[in-house]
Amino acid sequence: MGAGVLSHYNQVVGQVQAAVQACGRNVSDVQLVAVTKTHDAVHIRPVLEAGHRVFGENRVQEAKAKWPALRAEFPDIELHLIGPLQSNKAAEAVQLFDVIETVDRERIAETLAAEMRRQNRTPLLYVQVNTGREPQKAGVAPEHVPDFLARMKTVHGLTPAGLMCIPPVDEPPGPHFKLLASLARDAGLTQLSMGMSSDFAEAVAAGATHVRVGSAIFGQRPMAHPGPATRPA
Ligand SMILES: *Cc1c(COP(=O)(O)O)cnc(C)c1O
Repeated sequence: MGAGVLSHYNQVVGQVQAAVQACGRNVSDVQLVAVTKTHDAVHIRPVLEAGHRVFGENRVQEAKAKWPALRAEFPDIELHLIGPLQSNKAAEAVQLFDVIETVDRERIAETLAAEMRRQNRTPLLYVQVNTGREPQKAGVAPEHVPDFLARMKTVHGLTPAGLMCIPPVDEPPGPHFKLLASLARDAGLTQLSMGMSSDFAEAVAAGATHVRVGSAIFGQRPMAHPGPATRPA
């Protein structure tokens, strides 16, 4: 199983690089976030030993059970929270994660700001945008992004670093990636997290700086964890 993961990982790294070069960008401008939700240390280790350091988890509790031990061994790990965040998990999230990609409402911005001050930690913050305006999905509506970013800064003293989106499953993702890129450009934000196993090449072409790839590296997840969660669990 470990060897399978490594060969899939190498394949994905090659595909990401090819996508980056195909649109004339620099390989160093796009980070592969290896999404390890539902997969345990046995499956993660080959990728760590191959030198990979950037990982994504979608649940705080799961990350807390898995990553501190791996971090003790590989201190330069960069861990991204890519799932919905509840206020009562904000303290743990600030403690565990280097990047929180799912800031999506003012209440969580306020709680994160307080926790960051209290712990004297400064994870990078991305705002999740609901580009498809799906009622069941988390994220700030596109038209509210400028105001939300401004309030993060002026009201809560936070410095947003980027934007993240999960396009609707039943639509071509390209227009959603382009919308996210243009919102980031307008706001002067440099970090863009978009693209998953099925569409990372298209996301790279639209300007992604982070692609979040799970199943193409680690295999299918059990059906209890099909895709990105849409609401705090
Ligand atoms: C699970 C997940 C991914 C990875 O999805 P794959 O299709 O397995 O590559 C990316 N982003 C988010 C937010 C996720 O929850």
